[in-house]
Amino acid sequence: RFTALPDIRRNDEIGQLSDSFRRMVRKLEENDRARKAFISDVSHDLQSPLLNIKGYAELLGKAELPDGQRKEYSAIIRDEALRLSDLARQLLLLTSLDQITDLPEFEPMNLSVQLREVIRKYRWAFESKGISISMELDDASCPGDRELLEKVWENLLSNAVKYTPDGGEVAVRLEAAPESVILIVEDNGPGIAPDDRERVFDRFFRADEARSREGGTGLGLSIVKEVVTLHGGTVRAEEGPNGGARFTLTLPCS
Ligand code: ADP
Repeated sequence: RFTALPDIRRNDEIGQLSDSFRRMVRKLEENDRARKAFISDVSHDLQSPLLNIKGYAELLGKAELPDGQRKEYSAIIRDEALRLSDLARQLLLLTSLDQITDLPEFEPMNLSVQLREVIRKYRWAFESKGISISMELDDASCPGDRELLEKVWENLLSNAVKYTPDGGEVAVRLEAAPESVILIVEDNGPGIAPDDRERVFDRFFRADEARSREGGTGLGLSIVKEVVTLHGGTVRAEEGPNGGARFTLTLPCS
């Protein structure tokens, strides 16, 4: 840490120079802290699935197991491997977002068509939990990055499936305004506590222990926020119907 910086308090140019130097150093220290926290979170999130895979693989290798148990252990190994592969994919995407310095070239995107395709892709997941999904999609065309926006819809919809209990309801609305579009994804699941509604967009934040058992990386919404910001838009979490979650996303669309 740069704690030994001389404390120069002057109103002249040297004072200004010293102030801006201090601000710069503080920023560097913040970045350094964030980088260390990120590495420690990643290491932690890599370790627990790897240990589970190792442990269950050893059990499978050693004992004469009844069929049921063998299937159960294999399923755990498969789920943990999937968790690792999700984590790797999301980390790669976040790293590539961190490296963007210039605004990417955006192409005109028909958002309602793209959303409909993603919803179609996830229909099986909704059906397997008996969750009904309703959609009201205005026709809207906005400049955007196809792959990144697809990730945004996927992350919001997969969370809606993951956190809404069996038999629940999810609604997706796309509203075209004069110079923007508003996307709302809401569900009637457990919702997000008021204190967590901003923090859910932080990297690795997961609301409470009970829900962490659902599997997940805590990176999906941070990707949503970074992609939306890159497009000049905003996203917020609120209370949805019957205390569920509502995500409202606005994208400029001139
Ligand atoms: P993940 O789902 O992998 O944990 P996310 O970044 O997508 O990570 O979400 C962060 C946290 O926000 C989740 O762990 C969960 O606590 C909360 N969350 C996200 N979507 C919902 C939702 N639809 N309903 C309730 N909680 C949600």
